[in-house]
Amino acid sequence: MAEIEREAMEYDVVIVGAGPAGLSAAIRLKQLDADLNVVVLEKGSEVGAHILSGAVLDPCGLDALIPDWKEKGAPLNTPVNEDNFYMLGEAGKLRIPNAPMPPLMNNHGNYIVSMGNVCRWMAVQAEELGVEIFPGMACSELVYGENGEVKGVVAGVFGLEADGSYGPGTEPGMELHGKYVFLSEGVRGSLSKEVIAKYDLSAGKEPQKYGVGMKEIWEIDPAKHKEGSVTHTMGWPLGSNAGGGSFIYHLENNQVYVGFVVHLNYKNPHLYPYMEFQRFKHHPMVAELLKGGKRVAYGARAITEGGYQSMPKLVAPGVALLGCSAGMVNVPRIKGNHNAMLSGKAAAEAAFDAIKADRSGDELAAYETDVREGAIGQDLKKVRNVKPMWSKWGLMPSLALGGLDMWTNTLGFSLFGTMGHGKNDAESTEEASKHKPIDYPKPDGTLSFDRLTNVSFAMTNHEESQPCHLKLGDPSIPVAVNLPKFAEPAQRYCPAGVYEMVEDDDGPRFVINFQNCVHCKTCDIKDPSQNITWTTPQGGDGPNYPNM
Ligand SMILES: Cc1cc2nc3c(=O)[nH]c(=O)nc-3n(C[C@H](O)[C@H](O)[C@H](O)COP(=O)(O)OP(=O)(O)OC[C@H]3O[C@@H](n4cnc5c(N)ncnc54)[C@H](O)[C@@H]3O)c2cc1C
Repeated sequence: MAEIEREAMEYDVVIVGAGPAGLSAAIRLKQLDADLNVVVLEKGSEVGAHILSGAVLDPCGLDALIPDWKEKGAPLNTPVNEDNFYMLGEAGKLRIPNAPMPPLMNNHGNYIVSMGNVCRWMAVQAEELGVEIFPGMACSELVYGENGEVKGVVAGVFGLEADGSYGPGTEPGMELHGKYVFLSEGVRGSLSKEVIAKYDLSAGKEPQKYGVGMKEIWEIDPAKHKEGSVTHTMGWPLGSNAGGGSFIYHLENNQVYVGFVVHLNYKNPHLYPYMEFQRFKHHPMVAELLKGGKRVAYGARAITEGGYQSMPKLVAPGVALLGCSAGMVNVPRIKGNHNAMLSGKAAAEAAFDAIKADRSGDELAAYETDVREGAIGQDLKKVRNVKPMWSKWGLMPSLALGGLDMWTNTLGFSLFGTMGHGKNDAESTEEASKHKPIDYPKPDGTLSFDRLTNVSFAMTNHEESQPCHLKLGDPSIPVAVNLPKFAEPAQRYCPAGVYEMVEDDDGPRFVINFQNCVHCKTCDIKDPSQNITWTTPQGGDGPNYPNM
C-alpha cells in the first residue's frame, strides 16, 4: 500500500484526552507561558461526552490549579454534608460509624459534582487562555521520531473501509507533533498501553488492577432527596464472589448518582457485573429511595485500582503518562480526579521548564519525581495495602486490617510494608467448571433494566459502516478456548452487551456489536485469553453522557 500522506502541525505540547488530567495540563502550561502552543485532542463528540466518574471531588487539585475557581463559576455546587457507610446483607444493613475511619476517608470539604460538567467548565478556562481544543478527534496512532522518541500522534482518521483499509472516502487525518506528548487518556488508554509496552514502563512494578464501574442518574421524589448526602455500601449482593461496592450521591435538582463497582479480579467467570448492579437496586434501602423515581442516564467505565505499587514509570522519550493513564486512583476513597488534576499540573510544570531550557523529545524526569514524592505519591502510598488485602483476605479482614494500615500510614509507617497484587485481572479468571453459574433475577423494568435498554440511556453511537474497533488477536479463541473453558465471560463482563455467543446451525458464533460500546475498556482488561484489543473508533463516536 502506498505510504499515507498527512499534513503535520507543530505544537509545543500535544495532549491526548480532555479529562481532568489533560485539561489541567493545558491550563497550567498556558498559565506559565501564554505563548506556548498547546493542543488538546478529545475523542468524544464534545468535552465531557466520555467522562464518567462518581463523583465526589476532592477540590485539592482544583485549588492548586485555579485557586479562584469559585469566583470563576466552577460547577462545584453541592458540598458533601452527610457521609454514610453501610455493610449490606440481603435485606438488612449495618451502619459503620465514621469515628474509627481514618481521616483521609472523610468526605467533608468535598463536592458532589458532574465531572463531565467540571471538564466542560475547565475546557472553557483553557480556551480563554488560548488552548486549542479539538473534540471529535480520536488519536489512533503514535508518531515516533528518528531517535525512537514519541514525536506526536495521528488524529482525525475518518471513513475507513469496513475491513480497516483506506478507501476513496477515507480522510487520513493529520499528524500533530509536539516537543512533548502528554497521554491523558484515562484508564487503559490505548496509546498509553502501547507506550507502556514499547518502553517497558511497567518493569519492576506490580500489575495494574481494575474494577468496572456502572452508574445511573436517577431523578427521585423530592421528599426523599437529601442534597449533599453521600452513601457507600459493601457486602450484598457481591458477598464473597467479588470485591466491590456501591455509591449513592445526591446532587442538585433531585438527582442521584447510583453506581456500582465490581473489582475485575473475580474468579468465577459466571459472574455478571451488570446484573449485580441491577440486583443491588432491589435492596430495601435502595429500592425505597428510588421508588417513584426514574432513571435518566446510564454509563460504565473501568477504574484503576492498582494504586501506588502499580503505577508504571511515567515518562519515556518525548512522552508522559498523566492521571489514570498511569492509574492514580486512591481506591478506598474511590477518588482519582484530584490526582489527575495534580498530575496534569506537575507534567505541565516539568514541560515548561524543559521547553524554556530548549529541550524536547526527552524524558521529563522532574514530572516523575513530583508525582512519586509529592502530593500524589503521598496520597496513594497511605492506602497502598487496602486493595491487596481485599484481594488476599476478603472483605471483613481487609476492612479491619486496611483501616489499621491506613491509620498507621497516616502516622508514617506500615506494619505490612508494601503488599503485592499478584496476578493481573485476566489471569484471575478461573475455569467455569470450578464455579457454579449464578442465577440472576430478571430485571423488573422499573428499578432494574435489561442491559440493552440501559445502553440506550448512554446515547452511544458508532457509525455502522466503519471497521469494528474491538480487535480479536485470534478470531477463533472465543469459540475454541473461551467458550469451553470460561463459558465466554465477555457475554457477561461487558456492561454494554457488546459481546454475544449466537447459536448457528453449524455451532456457536461470537458476535461483536461494537455499536453498543461505551468505551469502558473492560474487555481489553478482563478477557482471560487477552485476545481483545480496544482501539479508538473514529472521533465523535461513543457515548454522549449528559452530566455524568
Ligand atoms: C464508576 C466510577 C466512579 C468514580 N468515582 C470517582 C469519584 O467519586 N471521585 C473521584 O475523584 N474519582 C472517581 N473516579 C475516578 C476518576 O473517574 C478518574 O480518576 C479520572 O477520570 C481520571 O481522569 P483522567 O483525566 O486521567 O481520565 P478521564 O477522566 O478518563 O479522561 C480521559 C479523556 O481522554 C479521552 N481519550 C481517551 N483516549 C483517547 C484517544 N486515544 N484520543 C482522544 N481522546 C481520548 C476520553 O474520551 C476522556 O475524555 C471514578 C471512576 C469510575 C469509573
